[in-house]
Amino acid sequence: MARSNNGESHLYRTFFRWQQRIPSPVRYVLVVAIYLIIWTILDKVATKFETAPEIQIWYPPSALDFVLLLVFGLRYTPALLLNTLVHEYVVTQRGLNFITLELFNLITTAGYAGACALLLFKVRINPRLHQLRDVVWFNIIAIFFAPLIVACLQVINFAYSGIIPWSNWVTYTLHYWAGDATGIAMLAPVLLILLRKLPWVWLHKEQEPPATQGELRWPTRQEIPELLIEGIALGIGIWIGYGTPKGSNLDYTYFVFLPLIWSALRHGFERVAATVSTINIGVALLVRIKFGQSNLLALQFGLMAMSQTGLLLGAVTTQRLHTQKALRDSNKQLTYNAFHDPLTGLFNRSLFMKHLEYAVEHRKKYENFQFAVVFIDLDGFKVINDSLGHLFGDQLLINIVSKLKACLRPTDTIARLGGDEFIILLEDLSDVNDAILVAEQIQAELILPFMLNRQEVFISASIGIAMSASSNTSTEDLLRDADIAMYRAKKFGKGRYEVFDPSMHLQAVERLQMETDIRRAIERQEFLIYYQPLVSLVTGKIIGFESLIRWQHPQHGLLFPATFISIAEETGLLRFIDEWVMRESCHQIQQWQEQILTTPPLLISVNLCNKHFAQPNLVEQISQILQQTNLDAPCFKLEITENVIVENALYADTLLLQLKALGIQLCIDDFGTGYSSLGRLHNLPIDELKIDQSFIKNLNNDRNLEITEAIVTLGLKLNVKVTAEGIETSEQLAQLRQMKCGYGQGYYFSHPLPTNAAEALILANPQW
Ligand code: C2E
Ligand code: MG
Ligand code: MG
Repeated sequence: MARSNNGESHLYRTFFRWQQRIPSPVRYVLVVAIYLIIWTILDKVATKFETAPEIQIWYPPSALDFVLLLVFGLRYTPALLLNTLVHEYVVTQRGLNFITLELFNLITTAGYAGACALLLFKVRINPRLHQLRDVVWFNIIAIFFAPLIVACLQVINFAYSGIIPWSNWVTYTLHYWAGDATGIAMLAPVLLILLRKLPWVWLHKEQEPPATQGELRWPTRQEIPELLIEGIALGIGIWIGYGTPKGSNLDYTYFVFLPLIWSALRHGFERVAATVSTINIGVALLVRIKFGQSNLLALQFGLMAMSQTGLLLGAVTTQRLHTQKALRDSNKQLTYNAFHDPLTGLFNRSLFMKHLEYAVEHRKKYENFQFAVVFIDLDGFKVINDSLGHLFGDQLLINIVSKLKACLRPTDTIARLGGDEFIILLEDLSDVNDAILVAEQIQAELILPFMLNRQEVFISASIGIAMSASSNTSTEDLLRDADIAMYRAKKFGKGRYEVFDPSMHLQAVERLQMETDIRRAIERQEFLIYYQPLVSLVTGKIIGFESLIRWQHPQHGLLFPATFISIAEETGLLRFIDEWVMRESCHQIQQWQEQILTTPPLLISVNLCNKHFAQPNLVEQISQILQQTNLDAPCFKLEITENVIVENALYADTLLLQLKALGIQLCIDDFGTGYSSLGRLHNLPIDELKIDQSFIKNLNNDRNLEITEAIVTLGLKLNVKVTAEGIETSEQLAQLRQMKCGYGQGYYFSHPLPTNAAEALILANPQW
């Protein structure tokens, strides 16, 4: 039978749909009809074991009453009123008078419906009898008290109507009680357990089925021998207890307890319920002919006590098994959690390192054994996460993992190190090309767009590969080497791979040295600011300066930003440097404004790095600096690259508005090289576009010329200023002037200058 994921068969689902379609009254009549048919059959069978009027060894139809009400609900109580009629007119035809019959009717119905109501709404058992508590309450109310009360009243009714003599009232009550009780005990639990398999028939749906349910299934092949032995033992027990001629005085009935207790203790409630039924049926068949009235009560009480003992014992076992299983499961879960990534289910770092250790050890023994550690870092994942949300990001990661897995052999090991970092161990390679092949395959897979929530997402990965080299490399070294190689791949353009070689390590060490040096440079104030004039192309006069940082390194001399700025940015140090640059240059320009009067006053333009832009108190900081240096806000300009805006997409708009509200000017630096969309640009509070110098450098190239013209036109349309950066020749200047580009900057006017030289230049007041 075809099965869906959740284990429901198609047949079951078709059936479910079918039964839902039936209107409620039809369903009601159908259920009642089925109930009455089964009830009649059971009644007929039970009557075969009748020893006196209305007294049977056991009476299972009562079990059916409980099952009907507990499963289909108390609204089926009226059906119980019908069964007495069936009993009288179809099965026994005893000729009871109408009043006796109706009383008979009402007593049973009220007694059993009352008991069910109590169980469902007062004690609130789960009638599927999963838990010990359910079984205990079912035993107390349904098996013990309900039949007792019904028996007392019923026997009074019978005695009153003359069916039985008053003198036998007590004995009759006990017979009646034991018969019903055993009947309920032998059939109701079995049926309730079986009906668990049909969740849709239950009126009271189970909110959350217990995680550890008693199993209800066919025995496996391995279990059959044990089942056979148990069956035989049970048969022998019943035979010795009830079947031998001597058994008629019930001396050996305790023999049945052995297989019963075994069944309960070994297999639990679900199995013992079946065993209890089997015993009761077997016993009834065996003793039917042999028993006289004298031993009947002892027999009945024996069966009643045995049935209850079996059920309770079974329930205790099941509960214990549940607890043990829950404990085992949670232990397993804990161990699993300790070594796996909860989102993707991949190994985590510590389990990966164990595998890597095995590989390293293996290589020590077998020289030819080659393996590779592959470090993967997704490019731009943070942007996706920030802009589309973490849930989306998680979904994407899961999709990426399945693509990664598709590129690997079953023997390869993949783990998630956290965030968007993955690590793979490729074993048994012939050489580095095998690892490169995998890296290329991964990149080819990832380059295809992902469809998520009907949205197309593009992602790439930077990959670093470290091969098992000398036999004394440690696991940590290998991981570090792969990381270094990945870092390099990222640095040289992303979406590519690099294979580690020792020189990279050297560079990494140098990088570390540089980092320490930068920290020290801040303390020792080794940074300087150079000022490069900004020129109005209309007047040809200096209108301000851009601050550009330099580092007077004690060993390496004057360093340009290219050598240290990316490291400073990555280590988070650049924002401290930027803050210093801002303060220092604001102070400087304010001094110049005071010393040398120009109209309009000179302005200062400073660069802002990504990390600084993302800092929460940026607006406050700038407003404080302006206040402290006493500089007019319009004389201060911030240069932000397009990429800074794109990478902080979530809050860039708000932040720019807040900055703008300070009254300062905002400029997009290196315009034309980033990825900002023109649509977005229109909505940003920008004062200026600075055309990247790469376009100006080759203005004789038609493409660059067109782009530059386009940007200038765009600036006019958007009503923002346009500055051309990197003007080196008079031709370039002439061309830009012809385009009506408003401002310029470049070596043609002046290189960036130290403070004194810049001051001299202002005083010279040149005009280009
Ligand atoms: P940028 O903001 O685009 O600065 C312009 C760069 O172009 C400067 O390089 C400048 O010296 C150079 N330049 C100016 N005119 C010409 C020219 O005619 N020809 C050529 N070939 N180059 C010219 P520099 O000073 O090396 O700065 C490089 C970059 O470092 C800057 O590019 C800026 O992004 C960054 N930077 C510089 N100072 C700082 C700072 O204090 N903070 C931050 N966050 N970044 C800074
Ligand atoms: Mg700049
Ligand atoms: Mg620039």
